[in-house]
Amino acid sequence: KIVSRYAPSPTGFQHLGGMFASLIYEKSAHQSDGVFFIRIEDTDQKRLVAGGIDDVISALKEFNIPFDEGMIDAHNYIGDYGPYIQSDRKEIYQTFVKNLVEKGLAYPCFLTEDEISNIREKQMNEKLLPGCWGEWAKYSDCSLEEYEKLIQSDVTYVIRLKSPGSPENRIDFIDSIRGKISMPENILHVVLMKNDGLPTYHFAHAVDDMLMRTTDVIRGEEWLPSVPIHLQLFDVLGYPAPKYAHIPTLMKMDGTSKRKLSKRKDPELSLDYYRTKGYDFSIVKEYLLTLINSDYEDWKRDNPHLSPDEFKISFSKMNSAGALFDIDKLNHISKDRISLMSAEEIYTKCLEWSEKYDSKLNTLLKYDKEYFINILNIDRLCDKPRKDIAVWSEVFDYISYFYDSLFSINDSQIKDMLPSTLSLSDAKSFISGYLDNFSLGDSKEVWFNKLKSCAIDFGFAKNKSQYKKAPDQYKGVVADAACIIRILLTGRTSSPDLFSIMKVLGEDRVLKRLNYFK
Ligand code: GLU
Repeated sequence: KIVSRYAPSPTGFQHLGGMFASLIYEKSAHQSDGVFFIRIEDTDQKRLVAGGIDDVISALKEFNIPFDEGMIDAHNYIGDYGPYIQSDRKEIYQTFVKNLVEKGLAYPCFLTEDEISNIREKQMNEKLLPGCWGEWAKYSDCSLEEYEKLIQSDVTYVIRLKSPGSPENRIDFIDSIRGKISMPENILHVVLMKNDGLPTYHFAHAVDDMLMRTTDVIRGEEWLPSVPIHLQLFDVLGYPAPKYAHIPTLMKMDGTSKRKLSKRKDPELSLDYYRTKGYDFSIVKEYLLTLINSDYEDWKRDNPHLSPDEFKISFSKMNSAGALFDIDKLNHISKDRISLMSAEEIYTKCLEWSEKYDSKLNTLLKYDKEYFINILNIDRLCDKPRKDIAVWSEVFDYISYFYDSLFSINDSQIKDMLPSTLSLSDAKSFISGYLDNFSLGDSKEVWFNKLKSCAIDFGFAKNKSQYKKAPDQYKGVVADAACIIRILLTGRTSSPDLFSIMKVLGEDRVLKRLNYFK
């Protein structure tokens, strides 16, 4: 059973990278019947942002990533291993660090900033090993009484680890994603407690993950170089170290090279990007699964009826070189999944989204639910649904021509849309011939045959070669004819099935629009 955690620092708002990571943590725990908890790492008090904690919780909720323990809002938590926010755990760290000092494994260090930068400079100039020798370790061997005195003299100090490491040694460990790794042992007297009485990440990680019984520390790959410090800390604390797994970072292609997604350059890293555009978060989550394990899509194809939540991720199939994020791929998956949703489901989702983000769509949805459902069903009920909608913000445009108040067209627009072989007067004379015999009561077959003979009478067959590539279900003879009707009814050159559109528009609207030339 894996106990894993998401340990965000609320120093900024949640982004896609955090959700990608959380999904890995959560799945690892839950697919082993283990525990997934949230720990808020707020020890860098200067960088905290207001609302940061609530943002973590609501993002996890939006992505439907359930946790068993941890903060449920900025002040409260559930679970037996709390507090789950580091600023409320001060006494715990202090107790542990005091114990280490008493045992001679850590010490208060009174070096000033200036002294430290001088030592660093000297080490650089003399090309010395960056360990903590000589000047650096000046305070490492005082007696407890001496420390007591120095502390009372009212200077600020930090507590450092008295690293037992040696430059000759290496440590080997297994990273659950990257396999066997060997690194030089830690020789730095790293800071455990800062001068504000709060722990550093290193110390808080060791103390908290030990006390919160974390079995697998799964975290961003930027922490991989710190593993030697952490293993040493567990050793010094006298506890077995957890397993480590360092997950890849979200990358994207920039020209021909890969780079990390960046908050500054890539709006698609922010969750607000997905909220305002109206992505379905369950689909974004599915896309993240494809980034975690590339065999997700095969699994989905083989198990179309299983929920993505049943997919089991595997560390061994993760690409440690980085997960390549591609918004086009996400849109593609999104179109595919939405094409499989029922009209009713889309209605409900659009209604909820538009409430906050699109008042125009919201008005249409509330105006006539059944009409909206019929519009969406045009495509849903045909053999091969088009994959037109990737995000809810596209829905308004997708349906707008069905509403008279949103539909208008003029000669020049019609001319621009007509193929170059047809003139406005061609369109006009075709339509008047077509209307002579038109009835919306016809079956689809009769309707089609009428359209065809009308087109043949009009001589459209001659032009058919130019429609070879047209995205039109009525290729050939009928293409020109259908094109004219489509433009008059929808104001566009591409649409779902024309006959079904007519049925949904209803006779009044169809006749009004087809009578355009009168
Ligand atoms: N607070 C750390 C961060 O945001 C957590 C790293 C970890 O998961 O241990 O990077």
